[in-house]
Amino acid sequence: STDEIVLNEDSRKVPCGAGLDCSPPQIVNKEIVSPPSLVPTVLSEEDEEIINSVVKGSTPSYTLESKLGDCKKAAAIRREALQRLTGKSLTGLPLEGFDYESILGQCCEMPVGYVQIPVGIAGPLLLDGIEYSVPMATTEGCLVASANRGCKAIHLSGGATSVLLKDGMTRAPVVRFASAQRAAHLKFFLENPNNFENLSMIFNKSSRFARLQNIKCTIAGKNLYMRFTCSTGDAMGMNMISKGVQNVLDYLQNDFSDMDVIGISGNFCSDKKAAAVNWIEGRGKSVVCECVIKGEVVKKVLKTNVAALVELNMLKNLTGSAMAGALGGFNAHASNIVTAVYIATGQDPAQNVESSHCITMMEAVNDGQDLHVSVTMPSIEVGTVGGGTQLASQSACLNLLGVKGANRESAGSNARLLATIVAGSVLAGELSLMSALAAGQLVRSHMKYNRSSKDVSKVSS
Ligand code: ADP
Repeated sequence: STDEIVLNEDSRKVPCGAGLDCSPPQIVNKEIVSPPSLVPTVLSEEDEEIINSVVKGSTPSYTLESKLGDCKKAAAIRREALQRLTGKSLTGLPLEGFDYESILGQCCEMPVGYVQIPVGIAGPLLLDGIEYSVPMATTEGCLVASANRGCKAIHLSGGATSVLLKDGMTRAPVVRFASAQRAAHLKFFLENPNNFENLSMIFNKSSRFARLQNIKCTIAGKNLYMRFTCSTGDAMGMNMISKGVQNVLDYLQNDFSDMDVIGISGNFCSDKKAAAVNWIEGRGKSVVCECVIKGEVVKKVLKTNVAALVELNMLKNLTGSAMAGALGGFNAHASNIVTAVYIATGQDPAQNVESSHCITMMEAVNDGQDLHVSVTMPSIEVGTVGGGTQLASQSACLNLLGVKGANRESAGSNARLLATIVAGSVLAGELSLMSALAAGQLVRSHMKYNRSSKDVSKVSS
C-alpha cells in the first residue's frame, strides 16, 4: 500500500522524564502469539549449489521463495549469496526468529534478515476514561521516558479527551484532456450532487468497507486532479481506495473517451509528502485531543510553570514555526511519537510526513492557575488490518492497546481508536518536551540518557 519512498526528517530534540516511574504494561487481552521456530537453518550440499547459482547470476534472487517453497531457506540462501557477492559480513543482522512466510507477497521482498528495534512502553495514558500502555519502537534515548512523563502529568490531571473530526482516506488521479474546457467539463460532472449516488455505487463495489464520501477537483490547465475521499473500515485504506478509484476511472472512460489517465496517483492525494491539502482538508483520521493540566502538576511533574509554557508555545510552536514557513509543523516533536508508535504497531512509517502534521495550543485557564493544552492533527493515517499490522510483533503491540485486527461489531472503530491514542500520545510528548525546554533541561537530559559513555570509536570498527 505504498506510494513513494520518502526519507524521514531528522528530529532529535527530546527531553527526559528524569526520575519518573515507568508503569508496567497493562494486559488488555491474554492472547499469546507463538514465536516462530528458533531452529537454525542448516544449509545442505544442495543448498550450496543454489547459492552458487545465485552468486553466478543464473538463478535470480527473487525467485528463491517460489523455487524452494520455503521462505526461511530462501532468506538464508539469499543472505549467504549476498555475503559472498559483496564480501561483507551480515553478522549482527539476525536471520533466525522471524516468520518469513508472513511477509511473502505482502510486506517485504527478497528478505535477508530483520532489523531489531527496541519497544518501550509509555503510560498509562488516560484517554477518554480508559488507560492505555503505549508501545513505542525507537532507538532515540529519552523519547519513551519523555512520553511517559507527559502521560503521568495527564493522568494526575484527570486524563485527556479526544474527538475524531473526520475519517476518510484520499486518492487523487490525474487525467489529461485536449483542452482546459473539457477538463472543466469533467470537474463539473464529478462535483454535481446529482451524479454522486451513481458514482459512489460504482466506487463502493471495490470493497464492503470502502464508502465514497466526496470527490474534490482541481485543475491545472488541461489536467484534472480528482481527490476521492472514502471511509475504509479498519484498514489504513490505500489499496482499498485505489481499487475504488480505478472502478470510477473505467466507468468515466465511457462518457469521457477523450480522457487520458496519466496516473492513478497525481500527488493531489497527497501521500507521504508535506502538502497543504492534507493540512487543510485532512487525510485519514482528523483528531483533536485536549487536557487541562493542573498548575500543581505542571510544577511537580513537569518542573516548570503555566506562564512559561504558554509563552514558549507562542514563541516556538506558533511564531517560530510561522517564521520558518512551516506546513503542519506547529508543534515541538509530534513526528517523534507518531513514528515510534507507527513502527511498533505496523503502520506505514513513511506516512509520518503528513500524520505528524499537528498544531499544539497552550492557554492559561482557571485564572492562570492551570494549563489547557491541545493537539490538533488532521491527517493521522492508521489501520489495524492490512500491511504490517498482521505481523506477529506489530500485532502484539496492537493487542496491547486493545485494537488488534478488524472490529467485528463496528468496522473502523479499532482504527479510529488507534488514531485517538496516537493523538493522546502526541499530547503527552508535547507536554514533556515543551516543559523540558521551558525549564532549560534539554541538553542536560540528553547528555544523561542519550549519550553513552562508551568509546564509540572502539565499538564501530
Ligand atoms: P490497505 O487498503 O490499508 O492497504 P489492505 O487492502 O491490504 O489495506 O487490507 C484491507 C483488507 O482487509 C481488505 O481486503 C478488507 O476486505 C479486509 N478487511 C477485513 N475486515 C476489515 C475491516 N474491519 N475494515 C477494513 N478492511 C477489512
